Amino acid sequence: MNKIHVLDINLANQIAAGEVIERPASVVKELVENSIDAHAKSILIKADNAGRTFISVEDDGDGMGRLDAKTSFLRHATSKIYDQFDLFRIKTLGFRGEALASIAAISQVKMITSDGEVVGSEINISGEDMLISDAPLRKGTLIEVRELFYNTPARLKYLKSDYTETSAIIDAVSRLALAHSDVAITLFIDDKLRLKTSGRANLHETIMNIYGVFTAKHLVAYKIETPDFKVTGYLGKGELARSNRYGIITNLNGRNVYMPKVQTAIINAYHDFLADTRYPFVVLDLEIEPGLVDVNVHPSKREVRFSKENELNEMLIRTIPTFLLDQDLIFDPHPEKYQPQEVVARPYVEQTQFDFSHKNSAIENVPQEQFLKMSDIVEIAPEAEVRQKPRQRITSIAQLNLTYLVCEDGEGGFYLIDQHAAAERINYEKFQTELNLNLKVKRPLIPLVLDYSLSEISAFDEEKLQALASVGIVLEPFGNSSFRVVEVPLWTEEYDEKIYVTSMIEQVLQNGVTNQSQVRTDAIATMACKASIKANMRLSIAEQQILVDMLFKTKNPYTCPHGRPTIIQFNKYQIEKMFKRTGV
Ligand code: ADP
Ligand code: MG
Repeated sequence: MNKIHVLDINLANQIAAGEVIERPASVVKELVENSIDAHAKSILIKADNAGRTFISVEDDGDGMGRLDAKTSFLRHATSKIYDQFDLFRIKTLGFRGEALASIAAISQVKMITSDGEVVGSEINISGEDMLISDAPLRKGTLIEVRELFYNTPARLKYLKSDYTETSAIIDAVSRLALAHSDVAITLFIDDKLRLKTSGRANLHETIMNIYGVFTAKHLVAYKIETPDFKVTGYLGKGELARSNRYGIITNLNGRNVYMPKVQTAIINAYHDFLADTRYPFVVLDLEIEPGLVDVNVHPSKREVRFSKENELNEMLIRTIPTFLLDQDLIFDPHPEKYQPQEVVARPYVEQTQFDFSHKNSAIENVPQEQFLKMSDIVEIAPEAEVRQKPRQRITSIAQLNLTYLVCEDGEGGFYLIDQHAAAERINYEKFQTELNLNLKVKRPLIPLVLDYSLSEISAFDEEKLQALASVGIVLEPFGNSSFRVVEVPLWTEEYDEKIYVTSMIEQVLQNGVTNQSQVRTDAIATMACKASIKANMRLSIAEQQILVDMLFKTKNPYTCPHGRPTIIQFNKYQIEKMFKRTGV
């Protein structure tokens, strides 16, 4: 008996649909991408019950004529590429011609579309039935998707909680909105406004629309350009740090993509500004000559690679700190002062994907007029040269808990300075100069032999030895499973050379850090920490003042080498406000 037969077309479509449409958020993403590809300037998205029962996407894009409208639901039907050659120059978000066919295979779909030329079309699809009728001529497309996965119960069962599915929708829409500031995107979930962007082609404004005013106020504009690539966007200051990497958003040629190496480079670039377990908030637009981008035709892959990625990464590591340092980075301990203005719809994706430490109650159904106007935005735009006037000399007046220096600024405010963090910063910059400018080496005072397991020994490749040599540590094999330290930096003399050597080897061996500038940064931070005065150490007023003066002479007085704040400021206004004296 024959056992092989060709699958019924509907069943085949349902199976294929699983690859493109995993969850309601995938429907939203595919439909919104289609609207963007169709040159929409404004897109309205609605979802009910986390997208399970209803999703609609309405746009003012090109629309479709009758025949295109019908064809669009066929698998591999696309207007976006013609041949293989086109595949290498894709500028549109879609190109596989699979989304509409997939969605129609697993839900009930209504499309109303018109190219504004003859008469509009309404198409209703349910299972195998397709009903076509005339519709108004308004140019654009509306697609409604009902009862998603109604005929694939297994898929339906695998959906997560409403909360998680809703978060995924908001996340997908946020990413699309950030990659397309020139499109006004509005999202309602269960009739509540969740997100709304202005579409004025201003990334800073779009970030504010999505993440709120506090975020918008703590950004630094970033821009670099080489013949091969151009990078523009915003770097979050320390206040916006999170406990996960989801706040690092990269768009490549208008497409939100995941670039693992670029992400690592960005994290490394922030090394000096954030604590080890914190990750930056960053939104960057990369424009790269399309010929350099690796073509990636896998349907679900968000991951992209391109040649010259190393050049880009080095550039990021080198320039991000410069941009950050060009700003006043005194830690702002008062997120609440931004709250009255915080009228934008804040996605509640915050709790799952993003770690917003300054979350306030989700604001729902915000009337249109309450969205910030351009005039408000200009005022907070980080590009506006807001460099502070030169600071008054800061005088230490007391030591608190043998840990913090209480200082006056001569303008009615005060500062708290963490003495250990301050000393670390001072030493860090000192060692940085020594390590970078004149790395003198010497033989260790006491012979140092370090034992390792055989697997560790075999992990010591040339790259790792080189990385260690770049920070003045030269090793030589000694017996079967040991190394002898032949050289250490001269400056370890004053401190503890063994601690320096072992902690650097640990970095390189266990954490696999071999990027030379990263190894150097780690080396310097390690020494700075070990050599610095600690908390719980009594300092005389004179010693306190030396520390404060030295701190303000450093290039980045605002954070310790591990990125924690060194200084917290309370200005006169804030103090008066706390005592409710404002307006007196
Ligand atoms: P792809 O986007 O990969 O081409 P889709 O299945 O998502 O495949 O869409 C098929 C085709 O339908 C598109 O190529 C486009 O021509 C048309 N289309 C889909 N959505 C819209 C829309 N909102 N406005 C205009 N045309 C659309
Ligand atoms: Mg598409």
